[in-house]
Amino acid sequence: MSEEEYGFDTLQIHAGARPDPTTGARQTPIYQTTAYVFRDADHAAALFNLQEVGNIYSRLTNPTVAVLQERVATLEGGVGAVACSSGHAAQIMALFPLMSPGMNVVASTRLYGGTVTQLGTTIKRFGWEVKFVDTDDEKAVSTAIDENTRALFCETIANPGGYITDLSVMAKIANKAKIPLIVDNTTATPYLCRPIEHGATLVVHSTTKYLTGNGTVTGGVVVDSGNFDWGASGKFPSLSEPEKAYHGMRFQEAFGPLAFTFHGIAVGLRDLGMTMNPQAAHYTLMGIETLSLRMKKHVENAIRVANWLEADPRTENVTYAGLKSSKYFSRIKTICPRGAGALFTVAIKGGYNACLKFVDSLEIFSHVANLGDARSLVIHPASTTHRQLTTEQQKAAGSDPGLVRISIGIEDADDLIKDLDQALANAAK
Ligand SMILES: *Cc1c(COP(=O)(O)O)cnc(C)c1O
Repeated sequence: MSEEEYGFDTLQIHAGARPDPTTGARQTPIYQTTAYVFRDADHAAALFNLQEVGNIYSRLTNPTVAVLQERVATLEGGVGAVACSSGHAAQIMALFPLMSPGMNVVASTRLYGGTVTQLGTTIKRFGWEVKFVDTDDEKAVSTAIDENTRALFCETIANPGGYITDLSVMAKIANKAKIPLIVDNTTATPYLCRPIEHGATLVVHSTTKYLTGNGTVTGGVVVDSGNFDWGASGKFPSLSEPEKAYHGMRFQEAFGPLAFTFHGIAVGLRDLGMTMNPQAAHYTLMGIETLSLRMKKHVENAIRVANWLEADPRTENVTYAGLKSSKYFSRIKTICPRGAGALFTVAIKGGYNACLKFVDSLEIFSHVANLGDARSLVIHPASTTHRQLTTEQQKAAGSDPGLVRISIGIEDADDLIKDLDQALANAAK
């Protein structure tokens, strides 16, 4: 059987991994090494010329990290992947080969708070621009794209509200403009959605979240679909023309569908250095082995808790797309048929102060700036993750001051509901 014939549950355990050829170790060893001995001078030269694939130095490649790259690429249905030190590093690594000073990225207004700041403020230092648009407004997205746009960026299940983006519509717009669609699939994971099947060119992840699944290590990954013709428009010279940063190498000509991945390693990791370390790759590989089991339980719990919260008179509104009342409920069937994830916001009667009391009263839920942990987590975006946004940006991102974001874990749903019940009682006092 070839890998394409295996199901998700098999691939999440086996893809990319083989017994260690020297020791027979069944689990992927942590290759805790910085450098690799060359067979001889010719071998060294071939590696540096990218004529032979192999390990030189762990800023570029490492065998433990390589297994993770192959595993995530396989689960996402991509041809290759580059692992990075964090999700935010992955986002920079995804944009880096596409952008140059004066170029812009069109991005959804509904994004992880840190991404709004990264794209909205920090990347300006590189001379890159962003235009934020409501991705539910197809026309606004098309209109925002101009001749200097080099990518369209959105999240599958958008943080914090759990809104579902119609990826096929985004892909259609990106295709027409001959630019890649980059999808942050962190909150869906490839178990719930495979953006490449909807037309995404690149998929980015914060592996910190569900892929690792236990809140131990930060990491990120960029997955390449291998489907984009980088030379077709003349807009992506780093990939289609001689790359100055790699002695004039033409990546598309040399590596075909793997051009983006090879560029990511040979130029991106080499020069930006946002490398994942082998320990982090090990923890993340451990997490991925149980991804489908956890996601099923996350979704099952989220449906129960969201329905309970929605019916409770102490709440005003629950944004979970898995609720029939959600504007996004109809998108589940096409975008993420296995469920709408486990991340949503709840508006609590009493506004800002009631939210803070609610958060302080919870016992099982941890008040942390994280999501996608086996543990249930809660945060008040307006006073934390989305604090640095303007009030308008907060509203557009779905993080009004009167709501809290909840990341439902895999505990007993009954216990979570009891905990929420007593915290709501305290918040109403
Ligand atoms: C956490 C997160 C990021 C950033 O990832 P880090 O690993 O924290 O750098 C990006 N996008 C989404 C949707 C996230 O949840």
